[in-house]
Amino acid sequence: MKSAFTYDLVIIGGGISACVFASKFLKNNITKKIALVEIGRGLGGRSSTRISKRFKGWKLNHGAPNFNISNSKNNLLLKSYIDELLENKFIKIDDSDIYFLNQDLNSETQENSEFSVGINYLSLDSMSQLSQKIIESNNLKGKIDFHFETLIVDLKFNNKEWIITSKNGDKFKSKYLICSTNLLLHKRSLKILNINKIPLRKAIPINYDKKIDLLLNLLEEQSFIPRLTFLIHTNENYSYKDFYSKKQRYFYLRKNLENKYKFERIIFQLQDNNKLGIVVHTKNIEFINSYINAKHEEVFKQQIITNFNKLFEDNSVVNKLTFDDEISIMKWRASQPSGIAIPLSLQLSKKYRIGFCGDWFEGEGFGRIEGSILSALILEKKINDLIK
Ligand SMILES: Cc1cc2nc3c(=O)[nH]c(=O)nc-3n(C[C@H](O)[C@H](O)[C@H](O)COP(=O)(O)OP(=O)(O)OC[C@H]3O[C@@H](n4cnc5c(N)ncnc54)[C@H](O)[C@@H]3O)c2cc1C
Repeated sequence: MKSAFTYDLVIIGGGISACVFASKFLKNNITKKIALVEIGRGLGGRSSTRISKRFKGWKLNHGAPNFNISNSKNNLLLKSYIDELLENKFIKIDDSDIYFLNQDLNSETQENSEFSVGINYLSLDSMSQLSQKIIESNNLKGKIDFHFETLIVDLKFNNKEWIITSKNGDKFKSKYLICSTNLLLHKRSLKILNINKIPLRKAIPINYDKKIDLLLNLLEEQSFIPRLTFLIHTNENYSYKDFYSKKQRYFYLRKNLENKYKFERIIFQLQDNNKLGIVVHTKNIEFINSYINAKHEEVFKQQIITNFNKLFEDNSVVNKLTFDDEISIMKWRASQPSGIAIPLSLQLSKKYRIGFCGDWFEGEGFGRIEGSILSALILEKKINDLIK
């Protein structure tokens, strides 16, 4: 049976930006009833963790493994929020080893990747749990309802009220709407949701709100980087060659090595059960296509192990894998936005009571967790000013 719900505010998406926004909003608006609607089974979005039924006790961060704050403008809003997360012991400074593998397969420790510049932070638990803790810390009165496994496919704005419809026909009515994903604003929604008009364009026709028109026009120029992540559940006895005991260890490949081995970076993740998980990232289009077109996934998986073993052949800390190490593959159609970043001035339409946050906004954190958090903090302030 289809259900109908009514809220003061609905948030679409359950990634880190949605969680930061919800947490701050709950703190400042204790009487408001809010909902978070997410297609996934839990929180975290692209900063989440694979907890598999098959591999009990394993938790592999299969999207962002950690995050870095590069903000050189000493943004106080962001800084005080990071301090709050540190004080709450949700995160800690990530002092894990980072290696940059160069052409001779030697390691350098100089930091120069978009994912490691500035200060690096690690969730004290898994990445999914970071999002969860962020919300729970301010959900003391249980004012937020979570609707998981719910895909929003349609938006309407009627009589100053949003009507948000899910694929299975559930309806959410709300005075305010927050979109933490831009799927419902972007042309890729047509194919993904199998619809014939971009949902936000359908809800707010052209020439009704200049800001929305500009936002939708700019988004036409935003594209997305696809990625694959390979989650390697190593065998019983797999370990480092040395006695490294920190939670994570990162190996970045310089461009020419990335072209040769097809890997972008490799993150070793020590599990609570002391086994060593490995997550390999690739954004090499040729390699991604060879996965998509592979007749036999097993052959592709063997290629991953072969490349890994060649890459680490003479490495002083990493051991080779064996061909019976278990690999699962995660496909990210849109791992990061690229191209045009959206100006923060387009984050809120007062007329339509709709706000947007996420890593698709301009700034040093564009395409990263830093941008997601900052845009959520800024939006929450704007919404509060509007509600008061
Ligand atoms: C493989 C990978 C590696 C990365 N590495 C790093 C890194 O090292 N450092 C870093 O800072 N960043 C990294 N990133 C980027 C980082 O993960 C993102 O910037 C950040 O997680 C984005 O958070 P968000 O809340 O803005 O968006 P998301 O996490 O994408 O949240 C949006 C949520 O909305 C949901 N959703 C979308 N459409 C609908 C709908 N119609 N109905 C219901 N729900 C919907 C989605 O399921 C998703 O959970 C990486 C990303 C990937 C994929």
